[in-house]
Amino acid sequence: MKTEGLEAFDYEVIRSDRKTLSIEVHHQKVKVRAPKKAPEDWIESFVHQKARWIARKLVEQDEKHQTRIKLENGQLISFMGSPLILNISQGANKILLAEQELSIRNKDLKADSIAKQIDRWLLTRAKEILPQRVEHWADIMGLSKKLTGVRFRKTKTQWGHCTRAGTVQLNQLILLTPLHVIDYLIIHELSHLKHLNHSKRFWNLVEQHCPDYQKAELWLKKHGHSVWY
Ligand SMILES: [Zn+2]
Repeated sequence: MKTEGLEAFDYEVIRSDRKTLSIEVHHQKVKVRAPKKAPEDWIESFVHQKARWIARKLVEQDEKHQTRIKLENGQLISFMGSPLILNISQGANKILLAEQELSIRNKDLKADSIAKQIDRWLLTRAKEILPQRVEHWADIMGLSKKLTGVRFRKTKTQWGHCTRAGTVQLNQLILLTPLHVIDYLIIHELSHLKHLNHSKRFWNLVEQHCPDYQKAELWLKKHGHSVWY
């Protein structure tokens, strides 16, 4: 569906067993959740009322999207806090890290195929580099016995997660953030081994091992979205 007038945008209506209307704007797409039998004009007027809010969200998300890493030849990315230049060329799929260059050979040079290649490369690096770093911090924090494993998962919204069973799960994209942010995210998840919440005691523990944690939080708020390629 499309709205009319100045604030024109497309939106998708998802009907389900619910009683109220709600609007979500994610990844530059507008979704309206509605009851199964909600009349069209009710939905339309609801969207119209919220048009300014939706338009603002779309602009915000578009601005964030613009600052994302572009997987293009010559693009500079940060890997473990050091700059790397992407050198993308056509050839049998292969990735090679040499000095300050990440050389990516890709068969058809399609963006999603290059993204998948980098995904796999990052996952391999994460498995090589991060478990040791997590164990190192767990040791310093006296939490080694509680830590049962380190796993990796690229999700769209989370940097990390800690399970009740003691497994720390990290998003391999954290390798593209500065070193102080990587350590903060590790310390954050490890602190959940002791406090499964974001209570005052949790933040005190984070601060004890990462006194500048607010700087890292600020970095994530300002630039975090840019590493989601
Ligand atoms: Zn947390």
